[in-house]
Amino acid sequence: MPLYLVFTPIGNLEDITLRALRVLREADVIAAEDTRHTGMLLAHYDIRKPLVSLHEHNEEERIQGVLARLAAGDAVAVVSDAGAPVISDPGYQLVRAAIAAGYQPIPIPGPSALLTALAASGLPADRFLFLGFLPRKAKARAELLQSLRAEPGALIFYESPRRLPALLADIVRELGPERPVVIARELTKLHEEFWRGRAQDAVRAFAQPPRGEIVALVGGAPASSPQVITPEAEETLAGLLTGGASTADAARLVAALTGLSRRALYQRALALRE
Ligand code: SAM
Repeated sequence: MPLYLVFTPIGNLEDITLRALRVLREADVIAAEDTRHTGMLLAHYDIRKPLVSLHEHNEEERIQGVLARLAAGDAVAVVSDAGAPVISDPGYQLVRAAIAAGYQPIPIPGPSALLTALAASGLPADRFLFLGFLPRKAKARAELLQSLRAEPGALIFYESPRRLPALLADIVRELGPERPVVIARELTKLHEEFWRGRAQDAVRAFAQPPRGEIVALVGGAPASSPQVITPEAEETLAGLLTGGASTADAARLVAALTGLSRRALYQRALALRE
């Protein structure tokens, strides 16, 4: 029987589809990240169902039980506290195990904070990269952001409000002060708000952590910014110069290898020579 991945509201309880409500009503059991939290959603819609918990600390051990229920012919609906299961939420291991056991999980789409934020951000949305929560360790965060310097698409981060000031400082340091930033706060809720400005202004605006939940979005790398040169490209450039290549040749070669701007690479090569 089917394993349903049911998207649930990210704040406003009206943001649930008719299909999601039907699937929850017809499920034999609902596997929820937090049974009390989901209990409130179900109570709002007068749905009474057995609930089992499925969270990051017990997902592994729950899998066999869920597979056994599917084998017995039960319909199992998986929900997280908000939005899409699996997306920065539990469910991934279960999905993998279900597929391996021959079941095709059925998504029941609905809200997710990242697309809700992106759609109204005003940033170009034709290409984007979702990063979820960044690593906690400073070095790992810095390295990840450095690897994104040349990414032309918008970057989307989940972050706790408490760590937003540190995230913004990292963005200024690693991606530059001029990048457009959008902070989408309390989406679909009473105090929904979109802050838009440059990265350096965001640092000032959010020197104190805001209240509520936030999605942070950063505009992609401008096409010919000197900042688009990645550490790897710079290393290759330096290697070629040390090996005796001319400034122009080194820039041309690295541009061909990486697709980065030849002019920007030439400027960087000149700086490296000095
Ligand atoms: N699975 C969820 C989804 O599809 O969006 C995300 C779950 S993740 C554990 C929670 C994070 O999502 C929050 O820390 C915040 O970054 C973001 N988020 C969830 N609801 C939000 C809301 N209403 N407004 C702004 N951000 C939200």
